[in-house]
Amino acid sequence: MQMREPENFTGLRGEVRSAEPMARHVTWRTGGTVDRCYVPADLDDLACFLRQLPSSEPLLFVGLGSNLLVRDAGFRGTAILMHSAARRPALDGGLIHAEAGVASPKVARFAALHDLSGAEFLAGIPGCVGGALAMNAGCYGGETWNIVERVVTIDRSGAQRIRARDEFATAYRHCSLKTPGEEWFAAAWFRLPKGDGAASRERMKGFLARRVATQPLQLPNAGSVFRNPAGDHAARLIESCGLKGLARGGASVSEKHANFIVNPKGVARASDIEWLIEAVRATVRERSGVDLQPEVRIVGEAR
Ligand SMILES: Cc1cc2nc3c(=O)[nH]c(=O)nc-3n(C[C@H](O)[C@H](O)[C@H](O)COP(=O)(O)OP(=O)(O)OC[C@H]3O[C@@H](n4cnc5c(N)ncnc54)[C@H](O)[C@@H]3O)c2cc1C
Repeated sequence: MQMREPENFTGLRGEVRSAEPMARHVTWRTGGTVDRCYVPADLDDLACFLRQLPSSEPLLFVGLGSNLLVRDAGFRGTAILMHSAARRPALDGGLIHAEAGVASPKVARFAALHDLSGAEFLAGIPGCVGGALAMNAGCYGGETWNIVERVVTIDRSGAQRIRARDEFATAYRHCSLKTPGEEWFAAAWFRLPKGDGAASRERMKGFLARRVATQPLQLPNAGSVFRNPAGDHAARLIESCGLKGLARGGASVSEKHANFIVNPKGVARASDIEWLIEAVRATVRERSGVDLQPEVRIVGEAR
C-alpha cells in the first residue's frame, strides 16, 4: 500500500507520529505499535488529515483506550487520537454539545453544573464521548444513546454530517449506522431534563463509591471484558468457575471483580491478556454452556 510520509502532508496543525506504541494510549498499558498516528488539533484539522490519506488506509479511532486491546505486532494503519482535539462541552439551545474527544465524566459534571439530570452514569466511565457512542456505554441503569439527540459524524473524505439518533441501530453495548458506510463520531448533542445539580453530584458520588468498592480501579484494566449474557452476569459465571486469579505473563483475572483482567505491573503482553480472555471463555462455555461475548475491542496483528 502506498503510504504518505509525514513530510508529504500539507496544511496540518496537528501532530503526525510514526510507529507509535499504543501501550501509551490504552488503559491496559500494553500492546503493539500503530504504523502512524495523528493527533488532530481540532475537527477541521482532522478533516484536512483524512482527506490526504489513501482511501484504503486502515483507520483506528481511539478515545481513551479504555475498551481496547491492540495486539503485540501492532495495527497496520493509522490511529486517530481524538482525546486531545476536543473543546470543552457547551450548552447549545438547551442541549449539551460535546466533541467526541471530550472525556465522558466531563459531560456528567457539566450536566450537573447546569442542573441537568440523567448523565450521572457517565461519571465513572473512563472513556471519551466518541467511545461512549461507539460502545453505547452504560451502567447503573443509564445508557449513552438514551440521552443522545443527534451526532456529528466524519468520513474518510473529511465530510462531517449531522445525523439523528434514529439513523443508528443501538442495543446493549452496540451501535451501528443503519445505512452502509464508514463514519466515525465527531461530536454529539445530549438532551437531558432539568434537575438538581446537587442531587446529581450526590448520585455521581454514590456511583463512584460503588466502583471503588467493587472494581480494581488502581490497576491497569479495561473495565468489563465480557458483555453480560441475558439475565445473568459475566462476573458471576466466571467466579463460579473458580477463575479469579487465573494468571498469565503478569496479567490476571481480578480477585476483586471476576469480569476484569488486570495488568498490575504493566508487564503483560497483549497476547497474555488475549490468552486469558480465551481461557475464561472456553472454561465458562464448557462448565455452564454460556458462550461469553467479549465487550472489549481487540484489533491489530498477533506476533
Ligand atoms: C475502570 C473501567 C470501568 C469501566 N466501566 C464501564 C461501564 O460501567 N460501562 C461501560 O459501558 N463501559 C465501561 N468501561 C469501558 C469503557 O470505558 C467504555 O466502553 C468507554 O465508553 C470507551 O471509551 P474510549 O474513549 O476509551 O474508547 P476506546 O477504548 O478508545 O475505543 C473503544 C471502541 O470505540 C471506537 N471509537 C473510539 N472513538 C471513536 C469515535 N470517535 N468514532 C467511532 N468509534 C470510536 C474504537 O475504535 C473502539 O472500537 C470501563 C472501563 C474501565 C477501564
